[in-house]
Amino acid sequence: MKNDIRTPSAVERLKEIIRDVPDFPKKGIVFKDITPLLADHAAFSETVRLLADNYKGRGITKVMGIEARGFILAAPVALALGAGMVPVRKKGKLPYRTISASYSLEYGEDTLHVHEDAVGRGEKVLVLDDVLATGGTAGAVCSLAEKLGGKVESVAVLIELGFLDGRKKLAGRDVFSLIKY
Ligand code: AMP
Repeated sequence: MKNDIRTPSAVERLKEIIRDVPDFPKKGIVFKDITPLLADHAAFSETVRLLADNYKGRGITKVMGIEARGFILAAPVALALGAGMVPVRKKGKLPYRTISASYSLEYGEDTLHVHEDAVGRGEKVLVLDDVLATGGTAGAVCSLAEKLGGKVESVAVLIELGFLDGRKKLAGRDVFSLIKY
């Protein structure tokens, strides 16, 4: 078994720099604002290193990043792993033919799209986002990867809101978070 790379000191440093913004985008939500982390070279590079190190040697060929903050993490992690990066976007944003998956939100539904040729049959996929909350978003992206014939190796997030139990929606999947609240 590999040593856990999430040493308390590394995780504490990142935790300190993430900003809580209460009541954004609506009352009752505490938004985890990662922009101070992105603006700090040491913290940003440490984040990318810790995420990528967890997946070195696991044969990942595509990293799927979820609009919009997931893109910021997925691109450097993909480069560090020698993999390609696949943007997963809201409706109407991708120019070529897409497939889509819908998932439930607090009220109603939302839909995510990916280009139909973005993941090849048998490719090993890492799904990456900034925050895992209820798990609906990450679950929808896993289903997109699998519809294209990919194999989801893991779901990785910088921040997991454990009290929302997102892992339940991802049951049976490998889930890795750097920071847990
Ligand atoms: P969910 O589908 O409930 O797991 O929500 C995850 C998505 O919503 C991610 O793309 C996050 O960027 C965003 N999100 C949910 N809750 C928060 C939060 N408290 N702070 C920042 N982003 C959040």
